[in-house]
Amino acid sequence: MNNVFRSFGHYGRRLARADDRGAGIMMRYALSLLGLLLLAPGASLILSGCASNLATGERHLNLISESQEIEMGKEADGQVIASLGLYPDSALQRYVQELGTKLARNSERPNLPWTFHVVDDPVVNAFALPGGFISVTRGLMVYMMNEAELSSVIAHEIGHVTAQHSVYRMSEQQLTQIGLAGGMMIKPELQRYSELVNAGLGVLYLKYSRDDESQADHLGLRYMIRAGYDAREMIEVFDMLGRVSQGSGTGRAPEWLATHPNPENRSGRIQKEIDTLAINLGTLAVNQNGYLRLIDGVVFGQNPREGFFRDNHFYHPELEFELAFPSDWQTVNQKDAVVAASPNQDAIIQISMAKASSAGDAARSFFQQEGLTAEREETSTINGLHTVSAQFRAQSEQQVLRGRASFVELEGNTYQLLGYTGEQLWPKYQDVITGAMRDFRRLTDPSILRMQPMRLAIITVSQRVSLEQLARQERSPVLLETLAIINQTEANAQFNAGDRVKIVNGEEIVSRMGY
Ligand SMILES: [Zn+2]
Repeated sequence: MNNVFRSFGHYGRRLARADDRGAGIMMRYALSLLGLLLLAPGASLILSGCASNLATGERHLNLISESQEIEMGKEADGQVIASLGLYPDSALQRYVQELGTKLARNSERPNLPWTFHVVDDPVVNAFALPGGFISVTRGLMVYMMNEAELSSVIAHEIGHVTAQHSVYRMSEQQLTQIGLAGGMMIKPELQRYSELVNAGLGVLYLKYSRDDESQADHLGLRYMIRAGYDAREMIEVFDMLGRVSQGSGTGRAPEWLATHPNPENRSGRIQKEIDTLAINLGTLAVNQNGYLRLIDGVVFGQNPREGFFRDNHFYHPELEFELAFPSDWQTVNQKDAVVAASPNQDAIIQISMAKASSAGDAARSFFQQEGLTAEREETSTINGLHTVSAQFRAQSEQQVLRGRASFVELEGNTYQLLGYTGEQLWPKYQDVITGAMRDFRRLTDPSILRMQPMRLAIITVSQRVSLEQLARQERSPVLLETLAIINQTEANAQFNAGDRVKIVNGEEIVSRMGY
């Protein structure tokens, strides 16, 4: 049953608190690790101890060895890539890996298996997993003006790893949770289900504290200066994030802010720290032109080719399918699945690709799983597509899950449509789950099939021109205010001949997302 419901808690939590993705994934591994420790009585005592952190000099309780830390980070990193995907630009990936490695080499933990990538996510975010696995989003790449700014974000995330913030947090939580753990920790997949049910509580959430953030800023400043970057650019990043978070009529705040609050305070503190430095920052690198060349053409905002929602109707132009989810459910589109959760977070519908090449094979391997009892399979046609479905029960230690699975063939692919809830709630949700699953159909609207993403373009202006004129000339699909923020300038800015300016090309076809 491992794979069937493994994402239940993950998605539920993502839906509930999309801002804490990295930490949420990490926490799950912390909990499975706790399970391991509980299975080996005494293990935690052998590992435990207060040790001084190399980066901060502080003494902390640490129940997690470095190899465990790396193992956890590596697994969680695999989850991040599976759910968000890597941005498909090998030059950009190489660049971020090289830049990150250069910064990490200047840290107190140079020998970790440092891994840096750009994930295919339009929101402005960056996060670190234990062991040195760091992701920045393509959204963040677009909002950065130069290499020094990007370095400041990456160096900050390196600071969380070298200061071992998540490791200490997990160690503290292990102590407080050992009394509560019981048998459920041993079966993480079930534990995740109960997390979803209890999503409102959020008690298991791993979050950095304000002090952790200041410390990561402080360490990040150290690493970027050692690597030769102008540290004043860190302040520019805080200013930009502050402006995005004020909304400017464009919608969502960047996720980085949710886990990294109060950019104003932090920028003041960093400014003070910079003022006390006895070095000439003016001689350090910023590298604007090289950076802008690199991000020229990066996808901007949501990429409709990867599937998108209009209200609760989901379209996937690349895979050529669509369906309508229940109107008041929360939805999320990830690389490996599209998921909707009921308003109470107690029922889920999930669409993913099945590995088998036929609906019959896919159904057989699904319904034969241990712990799952299927009712009679029905072979039918849903909107002209060959489909095999059945209702099922799945016994867990916590409760009985009840649901329906359908396997649908379309264009050589087999889709797994899964809807489920707790046994007692099945009568309440059966019709709405079955109805949504029966809405799966081939996407035929040519205007949707043709959709392309917006892209960032770097232009060099040939004469004095205002941002507003440029926006008009270039038929900007995004607001003037958004252009001002991504250029880290004001809406009434003027440019001179030779200046490089970020603009956005394409049509805003999805919805006004605010990126
Ligand atoms: Zn941070």
